[in-house]
Amino acid sequence: GSSGATQTDLLRARMRLSLQEHLWEFYQENVNIPTDEQATARRAALDICAELRVFLHAKLPDMPLREMYLSGSLYDDLQVVTADHAQLMVPMILEKNLWSSIPGEDTIMNVPGFWLVRRENLEYFPRSSSYWDRCMVGGYLSPKSVLEVFDKLVAGSINWPAIGSVLDYVIRPVVPSETLTLEVQYETNRKLYVDFLPLLVMEDGTSLIAKPHRLAAERHENLWRQSFRVAETARLRALDQEDGGCRCTCLKVAKAVCKLNPALNRLNASQLTNTILLLSEKEGDWTQEALADRFLQLLRALVGHLEAGRLPCALSPKVNLFCELTEQEVDELGYTLYCALSDPEGLLRT
Ligand code: GDP
Repeated sequence: GSSGATQTDLLRARMRLSLQEHLWEFYQENVNIPTDEQATARRAALDICAELRVFLHAKLPDMPLREMYLSGSLYDDLQVVTADHAQLMVPMILEKNLWSSIPGEDTIMNVPGFWLVRRENLEYFPRSSSYWDRCMVGGYLSPKSVLEVFDKLVAGSINWPAIGSVLDYVIRPVVPSETLTLEVQYETNRKLYVDFLPLLVMEDGTSLIAKPHRLAAERHENLWRQSFRVAETARLRALDQEDGGCRCTCLKVAKAVCKLNPALNRLNASQLTNTILLLSEKEGDWTQEALADRFLQLLRALVGHLEAGRLPCALSPKVNLFCELTEQEVDELGYTLYCALSDPEGLLRT
């Protein structure tokens, strides 16, 4: 009867209310990082960055680089749980007439969101005309080879123990590491991981990073990854600023949930950010009071994208942000999130 429906409604409303409370409590206790912890981590990263700049200028004055800088969630107030990682961006300078970029969808690999960088004009400007020719493989600039150059430098020729003792940190390169990473112990029980991320900014503003494609490494070895991070983070922030919304809070809660639940580790910040951006196109109410509703909707949306095996990038819909997951990973993520829909609070138990 009608009273039954009302009771279910009431029950639902009460459950949502308590989820809302639990989400905010989880945010305060597990997600948000104390300001001083963030500041100490940022300072440690900055010290290392300064040392590396000095070292590279002295050791390799003719390597065509722009100034290195730090970036990532630690600098956008989007890091969660612990202040433990940052990226050191290393912008490489390419001669415009010697290198051109080819979108992945126009190559035999057919992967939107990845690019090849081809060496041009070899007949007029023979090998060695460009500093980066040493990283050319089969006519293309190889991100793997670029990483190897930096790896030799960073892991091989920098005296990290000496620098560490001056700065009062314990610094060592992480080996083996896919993406060249430094481990910095900056307090007795605090560690920071700093990733080196060589970066190309093409003429049209496209950012390409030397972060290899996860699957079929051999075949995809020469592919550069397009980075949307700056633009997608800016868009999320701008939307929140327009309406005082809770999108960034929702993102941080979701990031923490994925970080703390091993079964969800494979979901990354970019996938979560884009799912929220896509949701924002359909859903208008992002007030703080709607956090629980939007969080549930985010879970549902993720389940839907996983079922489809496809998550379009909000800034470039042809890019599938799930393209580096195996079928099995897609299934497992989908299953975990589907189960969480009936017990979302289970995700917050740590
Ligand atoms: P978090 O690491 O989950 O807190 O998320 P971030 O938003 O800091 O993203 C960092 C990840 O994005 C790293 O894996 C980077 O390799 C990757 N990434 C892609 N493009 C960029 C970029 O332009 N800047 C930074 N810092 N990271 C990027």
